[in-house]
Amino acid sequence: MTARIEIENAAKVFGPSLALDSVNLTVEAGEYCVLLGPSGCGKTTLLNIIGGFADPTSGAIRIGGRDMVGVPAADRPTTTVFQDYALFPHMTLRDNVGFGLRMRGQGRADRNARADEMLELVGLSGAGDRRPAQLSGGQRQRVALARALAVQPDVLLLDEPLGALDLNLRRSMQEELKAIQSKVGATFVHVTHDQEEAMAIADRIVVMNGGRIEDVGPPERVYRAPASRFAASFLGEMNFLTGEAQGGTAATALGPLPAEGQGPVTLCLRPEHLRPDAPMGVGTAQVLETVFQGGHRRVRVSLAGVTLLAHLPLTVTAEPGQSIALGIDPDHLTVLPGGTQ
Ligand code: ATP
Repeated sequence: MTARIEIENAAKVFGPSLALDSVNLTVEAGEYCVLLGPSGCGKTTLLNIIGGFADPTSGAIRIGGRDMVGVPAADRPTTTVFQDYALFPHMTLRDNVGFGLRMRGQGRADRNARADEMLELVGLSGAGDRRPAQLSGGQRQRVALARALAVQPDVLLLDEPLGALDLNLRRSMQEELKAIQSKVGATFVHVTHDQEEAMAIADRIVVMNGGRIEDVGPPERVYRAPASRFAASFLGEMNFLTGEAQGGTAATALGPLPAEGQGPVTLCLRPEHLRPDAPMGVGTAQVLETVFQGGHRRVRVSLAGVTLLAHLPLTVTAEPGQSIALGIDPDHLTVLPGGTQ
């Protein structure tokens, strides 16, 4: 019903390009793991080597303790939901959902009962006689999910499963996916380039860049204390300040700021932590640009020759040309070694 995935030193080479570079990752049994990163960073390649659609050029992959290299997709305890759903248009929903069971030789009565149970799980009870063309995009996505879950995989792999849906539907399907995963208990590995989706759904986010893993952790930890400059900028907006650290502080354009370490450092400051009421004053900024964003104002300011981004409460007025005293919350600074831009 569920299994741990272990990937050790996996590399995947396609001609001159290195799609995966020394990837080490353990996904715990029953975990909801999201692979997040920009186009071309290797997310799908990693999913494919877990699902058996590709083998790593080198390295090991185990599912439930079993070595998977060379094992065909059909013989793995995994199923994959693709972005285009790949439903059979001429079949009823019941037959679509029961397809994998039919391939495994299960009789009609049993597979129909299982298909109806799965359609109920994804909120489509009573729809078994309909055909894919009669469904909305969100409903088709649910059928694809029901079909993948019907064979009771230990591991469910989802490649941009919500990519074709509009924003509202995507949000509600995120909640449903998470609820279904807790109910069935299988290990889910979900690929997306949408940072909000990753934060909404993941037990753990794996941030990838250029075939490598940049950071792995629960969404809140990765957001609050990213492990690399790339992870810091990919998950939400971030201000970066370079400085020279010595004796617990770093000399930066904004003056001395708290920073452990020695030598060149990069300080990461979220825009919501640059505010007029923050505990540590850093000077008076000039407002360059302001955009109303519903819950806050997104304001670009110039401070000590540096352009910074602040998310200010709506109670603060910030018009271009205005001066505004700003502070930071030192508890929310992340210090990374190295001072390059
Ligand atoms: P996207 O979000 O655009 O799907 P991704 O993060 O899933 O991107 P991959 O599809 O894993 O990225 O691709 C990683 C790298 O490997 C890319 O540079 C891609 O061009 C290359 N690549 C992937 N599959 C192949 C292939 N079959 N042949 C050659 N190169 C490939």
